[in-house]
Amino acid sequence: MKVLGIESSCDETGVAVYDTAIGGADGLRAHAVYSQIALHAEYGGVVPELASRDHVRKLLPLVRQTLAEAGLGTGDLDGVAYTAGPGLVGALLVGAGVARSLAWALDLPAIGVHHMEGHLLAPLMEDDPPQPPFVALLVSGGHTQLVAVDAIGSYRLLGETLDDAAGEAFDKTAKMMGLPYPGGPQLAKLAESGAPGAFRFARPMTDRPGLDFSFSGLKTQVLLAWQKSDRADATRADIARGFEDAVVDTLAIKCERALDAAGCDVLVVAGGVGANRRLRAKLQAMCEQRGGRACFPRPALCTDNGAMIAFAGALRLRAGQHDDDAVRATPRWDMASLPPLAAGRES
Ligand code: ATP
Ligand code: MG
Ligand code: FE
Repeated sequence: MKVLGIESSCDETGVAVYDTAIGGADGLRAHAVYSQIALHAEYGGVVPELASRDHVRKLLPLVRQTLAEAGLGTGDLDGVAYTAGPGLVGALLVGAGVARSLAWALDLPAIGVHHMEGHLLAPLMEDDPPQPPFVALLVSGGHTQLVAVDAIGSYRLLGETLDDAAGEAFDKTAKMMGLPYPGGPQLAKLAESGAPGAFRFARPMTDRPGLDFSFSGLKTQVLLAWQKSDRADATRADIARGFEDAVVDTLAIKCERALDAAGCDVLVVAGGVGANRRLRAKLQAMCEQRGGRACFPRPALCTDNGAMIAFAGALRLRAGQHDDDAVRATPRWDMASLPPLAAGRES
C-alpha cells in the first residue's frame, strides 16, 4: 500500500510516500521537508498566521516534488495521511484541506494522524524494528512524555513534563545565552566544546519517585549561572555542556525507572531532542546494560517530517481505518484516546 503523508502542524511542511509492501527503511520511497525557520527567525518564535500562509505556498509544490522523486504518479497512490493534530489550528487546516481534497479527487481513503503517534512510530520505519510492548520516550519541542506502548495504537501515559518540554528548555536556554533561533541544535553543538563538570546543574525531580519531569527550574538555574559568569565564549560552551548533561541524565534516569515499572528492556525514542547525540549514546548504553536496546529514528526523522505521518497513516489505513470526508483539525488531542490498530473498519 502506497500512502502519501502530509505534515503541517507547526513550522515544517513535510511530504512523503511510504510503501508498506516494501516495508522497513526502503519502504520510504521519497520524503521532503521544507522548514520555515528563516521565516520566523526575526520574531524569535513561530508566528502562527505566517506559518499557515507558508504551508499554503509550499505544500502542493512539495507534493509534486516528492511524487516525482518517488517515480510515482497520483494514480499509483492507495491512500492519503495527514497530521490532524495536535498543533497550530491554521497550519493543521492547510494540510487537512489539501490531503482531504486530494483523497476526494483521487477517490482514495484518507486518515488524520496524531502528530505524536507519528513521532512515536518513526523508529519502527527503520530496519529491524522493535515490536511492542515497549516504553517510548517522546522528547520534542512541545512534549516530554513517557508512554507504555502495549500494542501499536494502545498508549498509556506513564509520565510527562509539568512545565517546559525538553526541546522547549533547550530552545529557551539557548535564547537566554544569545544563541540564534532555533537554539536547541545550536546549544547542543556548542556543548560539544564545553568542559564536562565545569558547571553542574540539578537533575530535576530525580530525588523523588515518579515519572514526571520539570525543566523550567533548570532553565532558571542556567540563566543565573550565565548572568553571574564572565560571559566568555568558552564559559558559554561550559554552561551549555552542563545544561545538556543535566537534561540527558534526567531523561535517562526517568527512562530507566519507566522500563523498570513496565518490566521491559526496549526503549523507543522519538521527537526532535532524540537527534541529540549525547542523549542517544546515554540511552543506548543504559538499555544495553540491561540486556535490551534503545531504538531511534535516523536524526532527520526525529524532527517534524512527512515520512512519520505517511508511515503511521499507512499502518492504520492498512488495518481498514479511515475518516469520513470532513476537513478536521484537532489542535488538542490525547493520544490515549486513539483507537487500537486492530479496531477494524471505521467509515
Ligand atoms: P511537538 O512534536 O511536541 O509538537 P515540535 O514538532 O515543534 O513539537 P520537533 O520538531 O519534534 O518538535 O522537535 C523540535 C525540537 O527539537 C526543538 O525544540 C529543538 O530545539 C529540538 N532539537 C532538535 N535537535 C536537537 C538536538 N540535537 N539537541 C537538542 N534538541 C534538539
Ligand atoms: Mg519545527
Ligand atoms: Fe513534532
